Amino acid sequence: MTAVLRISRAALAANIDVLRARVSPAELMLVVKDDAYGHGLDNVIPTALEAGITWIGAFDLPTALRVRALAGDSVRVFAWMVAGDASLRTAIDAGIDLGVGDPALLDDVVRLAAAHGTTARVHLKIDTGLHRNGIRPEEWTDAVARTAAASAAGALSLEGVWSHLAEASNGEDDAARARFDEALAVVHDAGLTPPRAHLAASAAAFQRPEFRYDMVRIGAFNYGIRPAGGPGEHELGIAPVASLDADVIEVRGGIAVLGVGALDGLPSTLGGRTVARSPAGLVAVRSVDDLTTSVDAWPHAAVGETVRIYGVGAPSATDLAEAIDTIGEEIAVRLSPLIERRAEDDVRTR
Ligand SMILES: *Cc1c(COP(=O)(O)O)cnc(C)c1O
Repeated sequence: MTAVLRISRAALAANIDVLRARVSPAELMLVVKDDAYGHGLDNVIPTALEAGITWIGAFDLPTALRVRALAGDSVRVFAWMVAGDASLRTAIDAGIDLGVGDPALLDDVVRLAAAHGTTARVHLKIDTGLHRNGIRPEEWTDAVARTAAASAAGALSLEGVWSHLAEASNGEDDAARARFDEALAVVHDAGLTPPRAHLAASAAAFQRPEFRYDMVRIGAFNYGIRPAGGPGEHELGIAPVASLDADVIEVRGGIAVLGVGALDGLPSTLGGRTVARSPAGLVAVRSVDDLTTSVDAWPHAAVGETVRIYGVGAPSATDLAEAIDTIGEEIAVRLSPLIERRAEDDVRTR
């Protein structure tokens, strides 16, 4: 092996505990899109279950089915990017909670569930301003009426009402929350009593209690990824879960060459902009090339030694992201799936 992404089960469990305590009594949904933000579903799901997670946010159907296979029926699995009859039928059969943000999709779900004599679990999504996916306010009353009829007929069970925030400014988020409350009032006026409303992701869930409702959907903070330009890990009480280590494959001319590079998903723009943790302390990263990364050599640097590029005891994924004007999630998610992910009980500073 020349590089490995070490996943700390202890850090993941501790982050989950901190966030759950923070948002309680709202429930914590763990979001695992993009293969658990690049950490690997296989590594994350067992620890999440041990930590008491009961809701998993899967994004798409392949992820939802993978979670179902790993977690069994002990958790609720929420997917909000499922469409097409075959996929919807599979999702309904697997007991997936479906995010529905489009009136035509609502029709499809009701038709399929009715045809199969099953009940689909639906979370209706109102567009509160993001304009990506979500039922428009002017279509909401009609969609809610059709939801009520389908619910009475047993084709669906309305399990939630939800939306997603832009998180660009507090003012915009406040306006979104006002639209969300109006949408909830329409639902209640129609005689529906969905058991949960959910609106917030990491930042709003952490900072703004009035955004928590019954459940929050958190990804980044569970993995110890703090927001770029925002509060630090210490203030948030979270710690990085992933640490990227690479072996020294060559030492020459004051440079140690590591066996991981841009083709493995490390941004080449990091060259000259970050440091890494060598066995002798922090060293400057000189360049990220296609297959390798060059760092300043330390005294007696030798082939086979290991350097940590980000994670525990090194800059965080968000530190790297800030150096090149992106977000920590991007660093985590871009890492090639060909790099081994290895779950360990704990990952320490080397
Ligand atoms: C990604 C995502 C989340 C989680 O966002 P974080 O900022 O990583 O906590 C929540 N809800 C939806 C709809 C998402 O797509």
